[in-house]
Amino acid sequence: MTDTIAAISTPYGKGGIAVIRISGDEAIDVAGRVFRAASGRALSEIEGGRIVYGSICAPTADGDLGKVIDDGMAAILRSPRSYTGEDTVEISCHGGILLTEQVLSAVIAAGARPAEAGEFTRRAFVAGKLSLTEAEAVINLIDARSEEALKLARSHTAGRLTEKLGQFYESLRTLLSTAYVYADYPDEDLTDLSAEEMVGALEALQGEMQALSDTYYVEHAVSEGITAVIVGRPNTGKSSLLNRLLCRERAIVSPIAGTTRDTIEETVQVGRVTLRLTDTAGLRESDDPIEQIGVERSLAALESAELILAVFDGAEPLSDEDRELLAKLEGSAAPKIALVNKSDLQAGEVIGLPEGLFHAVCPVSARTEEGMDALRQVIESLYVDGEIDYDSTAILANARQKGALDRSIAGVEAALGALRSGFTPDVAGLDLEEAMAALSEADGRAVSADIVDAIFHRFCVGK
Ligand code: GDP
Repeated sequence: MTDTIAAISTPYGKGGIAVIRISGDEAIDVAGRVFRAASGRALSEIEGGRIVYGSICAPTADGDLGKVIDDGMAAILRSPRSYTGEDTVEISCHGGILLTEQVLSAVIAAGARPAEAGEFTRRAFVAGKLSLTEAEAVINLIDARSEEALKLARSHTAGRLTEKLGQFYESLRTLLSTAYVYADYPDEDLTDLSAEEMVGALEALQGEMQALSDTYYVEHAVSEGITAVIVGRPNTGKSSLLNRLLCRERAIVSPIAGTTRDTIEETVQVGRVTLRLTDTAGLRESDDPIEQIGVERSLAALESAELILAVFDGAEPLSDEDRELLAKLEGSAAPKIALVNKSDLQAGEVIGLPEGLFHAVCPVSARTEEGMDALRQVIESLYVDGEIDYDSTAILANARQKGALDRSIAGVEAALGALRSGFTPDVAGLDLEEAMAALSEADGRAVSADIVDAIFHRFCVGK
C-alpha cells in the first residue's frame, strides 16, 4: 500500500491550463471526491487511458462533491500504465494561481497528501518504471538550457547508459565467477579463461569503462557548463569582450580603469559548449577596501576556474601588471587562452607572451568583433570534438555517475595489478567484487537511500 500524493505539476504562475497530478492506490477515489464527469459516470468505472470532461468541486465534510470551483478534464491512468506505475489521475483546470491552489486544496481535503519534490519520479523508480540513471536523465531534460543539452538529455532518457553499465556488470560477473572457480577447484581445469586471458579481458574492459568515464567531459561542457573566468588588467577590454560573447550589454563598459569592481557571472553559449563565465574585478593590489574584496573574489574565481580567458591589450606593450598576471597564471593548471584585444587598433600580437603557457593566442577586437568566431571555435574544440552521435553513444549524465564508475575502474585496475604480480585469480576476485559494487551504484541498482533522496530532491515538486 502506498499513500496517495498530489501536487501541481505545471509551473507556478498564470497559464492557459494547470495540471494537478494525483498518484497512489486511492488516486481514483480521491479524484472522484472532487471531480464530477459531465457524462455522470463515476471515475471509478472509467477505464485507464481515458480523458473525461467535467466539473471540479470542493469536497464537503462528509466526502461528497461540494460547490463547483472550475471545469476541466480528468485523465485516468491505471496501474501499471502511468508515469509512476500507480493509479494516477491528472486533473487539468484553468491556470490561475489561486484557482490552481484551490483545486489542489480540494484534492488534499479529499484524502491525498502533498507530494514532496521528485516524489512522482521516485515512485516510478521504485516501481521499476525507470532506472536511477534514467531518472537523472529526466532532471537533465528539465534543466536543459541549450538545444545541444536537450539532445544530450534526450539521449540519456533512451536508457543507453543503463544498457552499457549493465554490459560492464555482466562482464565483471563472468570474470568474477572464473576467479572463484580457481579458488574452489585450484587443481582442476574448469575455467575457459587462463590467468593471462583474464588479464586480457580485464584490460579490454578497463579501456571501455575509461572511454565511458571520459564522456562525462561532454556532459559537463554541454549541460552543466565549464566554469571560466575572464582576467586581465583594467582597461584591456574584458567587459567589452564579455558583452560580445553574451551578444548583449551586461557589464558596464567605461574608459576609467577599475570600473568592474565586483565579479559578474553569466552563462554563455559558445557553440555547443556552455560557459559559466565570471568577469573579474582585476587582480591588482588596491587600498580601496571595496576594490580589495573584488580582487579577493577574482583570485578565488581564478583558482576554481576550469578555463581561463586572459585578456591583453594588443595596442600596448606588456605592462608590469600584465606580467604579474602571467606569473599568477603559471601556477594554475586550467587551460588558458590569451585574448589579444583591440586588434582593430594595431594588427599583430603582444610581444612577450610566454611560449607554451597558453592553449591558444587569439587576436580579437571587441569593437569590430574581428576574431570572435575563431575564438569561439577554439573554445568549443577544447571540449567537444566533431559530431556526437547521440543515437548510439552512451554518455554519463553527471558527476555522481562518473565518481562511481571511476571507483569501479579502480577496482578493475587493482584486480589487474594482483594478476600481473602473479597472485592467483581468486585474489583478484575481491577487487572485482568491489568493482561490481561501485558499478551497481553508478546505475542505481544498489545505491544508498541518502543518495536516492539527494537525487530526487533535485526535482521540483510535481515531477
Ligand atoms: P575592462 O576594464 O577590461 O573591463 O575594459 P572595458 O571593456 O571597460 O574597456 C576599456 C576601454 O577599451 C573602453 O573604452 C572600450 O571601449 C575600449 N575597448 C574595448 N575593446 C576594444 C577594442 O577591441 N578596440 C578598441 N579600439 N577599443 C576597445
